[in-house]
Amino acid sequence: TLVYLDGEFVPKSKAVVSVFDHGFLYGDGIFEGIRCYGGNVFCLHEHIVRLYESAKSILLDIPLTIEEMEQAVVDTLQANGMADAYIRLIVSRGVGNLGLDPRSCARSSVIIITEALSLFPQAFYEQGLSIVTVPTRRNIPDALNPKIKSLNYLNNILVKMEAARAGVHEALMLNQDGYVCEGSGDNIFLVKNGKVITPPTYLGALEGITRNIVIELCAELGIPCEEKPFTRHDVYVADEVFLTGTAAEMIPVIDCDGRTIGNGQPGEMTQRLTEAFRGITHQRGTKVPELYTA
Ligand code: PLP
Repeated sequence: TLVYLDGEFVPKSKAVVSVFDHGFLYGDGIFEGIRCYGGNVFCLHEHIVRLYESAKSILLDIPLTIEEMEQAVVDTLQANGMADAYIRLIVSRGVGNLGLDPRSCARSSVIIITEALSLFPQAFYEQGLSIVTVPTRRNIPDALNPKIKSLNYLNNILVKMEAARAGVHEALMLNQDGYVCEGSGDNIFLVKNGKVITPPTYLGALEGITRNIVIELCAELGIPCEEKPFTRHDVYVADEVFLTGTAAEMIPVIDCDGRTIGNGQPGEMTQRLTEAFRGITHQRGTKVPELYTA
């Protein structure tokens, strides 16, 4: 595997960063998780735009233009000959001194890693996931806005650990007011009486690319969809629940906090939207020359 490290391709074993990098010292940086399907980098532009918005919000200068960054992702896939991959793009504040002040960091560092996909077991998609709600709250949009995909993922890691302790694979974060925000690394949708509902991101959630695609697919298919705050109760009494994310795509939820969702099986609407989603993963985005197979 070759890793893109500040404009160079280096072997995995040599792809190392300094202990003085503020990304390491303080979580001072941002990232993206992107997927390539059969040589099509799904929604590459949307991911890169979100990256640059995160950068702007934390006053981080990226030493590449948006176009150059998109090309760097394509080049990294080509260098590795990978048509199907999970791509992790990281921009850290770079090397500085031990103080918090990022002005000691001369240049931010850009890293692109492409990996073989490690997908959730197929059984999760067929049978659905059980999830729980956890004590860890989503950080409030007023502070470190969850719309910023920063390297500070401790909240999400705590949520993942709380899920594991409860014997399940994923959990929901609520905000300080008790409204449902999102999972540790995915957005949430409910289906109730034929309507698809997802929380507005201002409650405290990342504006997921997959989430936005699902909202678009609903519009295309004539399925009513709205962004509306909801609570745990609404999750328990929903007809269907599913999570969305780049790695997981769309995954049905069949149990939350011991309450069976609907009939305890992945729902029809979830299946319909999943099919529609899979229908565009090889089309929508940026093609990698030589790797794309229509
Ligand atoms: N929420 C969080 C906290 C995430 O880290 C992710 C993953 O990127 C998502 C939601 C899903 O977003 P996307 O669909 O862009 O992968």
